[in-house]
Amino acid sequence: MDVIRTVAGFRAAADARRETGATVGFVPTMGALHEGHTSLIRRALKERDVAAVSIFVNPEQFGPGEDLAHYPRDEEGDLARCESLGVELALAPTVEEMYPPGLSVVAPDPGPIGGILEGFHRPGHFRGVLMAVRRLFDACGPCMAYFGEKDAQQLFLVRRMVRELRLPVAIVACATVREPDGLAISSRNASLAFEERGQAGCLFLALTEAAEGARGGERDAHALVAAMAREIGATPLAKLDYAVVVDQRTFEPVDRVAGPSRALVAARFPSARLIDNLSLPSPVGEDVPSS
Ligand code: AMP
Repeated sequence: MDVIRTVAGFRAAADARRETGATVGFVPTMGALHEGHTSLIRRALKERDVAAVSIFVNPEQFGPGEDLAHYPRDEEGDLARCESLGVELALAPTVEEMYPPGLSVVAPDPGPIGGILEGFHRPGHFRGVLMAVRRLFDACGPCMAYFGEKDAQQLFLVRRMVRELRLPVAIVACATVREPDGLAISSRNASLAFEERGQAGCLFLALTEAAEGARGGERDAHALVAAMAREIGATPLAKLDYAVVVDQRTFEPVDRVAGPSRALVAARFPSARLIDNLSLPSPVGEDVPSS
């Protein structure tokens, strides 16, 4: 595996692979790799000839008072994990390499959707995300890029950026990997105290209730939101930031479930803030028959 520290070096290495006819699958990460990341890497390895992974804790997406200084880092362990999986190219740049002083990295405007939900609770977050992802896509060149549905709003905004800027990248959405109690795997889970961890399954429980409601024919999004808020509200250590149902095509919150929809929740525990989401199924009997 080539461990590369520069954007130009990574681009040259990926270009060299492509010149031999190989296809590249790219997995951008902030490191502290876990089973969620591993599932993206495995999929890239399965679907593309060469897997490329970036490890970069992006300061631009952390707000003041957020946990940038405490964000878990384990570059040595991450690189060993990548190598053992069969990754060929790893990019691990410094902040100065990603954002060289004097070079203006154009940050696409995340627009109104960048200001709701995660964007509302973390002002500037998505501007920072798009800035890094844009630079990373330039660093990789034409590729398939693998992103987790766990960060559904990020996935939506990255897809839109790729479309609007006509970047030579095809985005692949990958299912959320969960613990046995449904908790979405996240590097932040490690911060949860024992008791908090015991209650952290409430996010998935809330989402599952919304999904069951939708499957049972409930079309009133506010009823689904109320059920999710009740579930999280009944969890002593959790404080609800939001529960919402959005239209998957626009990411706008909806009043009624009338097309492809997704339920999203965010909750604060004393030691970590957790987010999760689930696609809502069509009501039983309304599935499009496959012929
Ligand atoms: P991060 O390192 O948190 O920036 O995440 C890097 C990528 O891994 C993003 O596309 C995330 O959506 C994805 N990811 C994080 N957690 C999971 C998970 N539990 N299941 C699937 N993908 C995940």
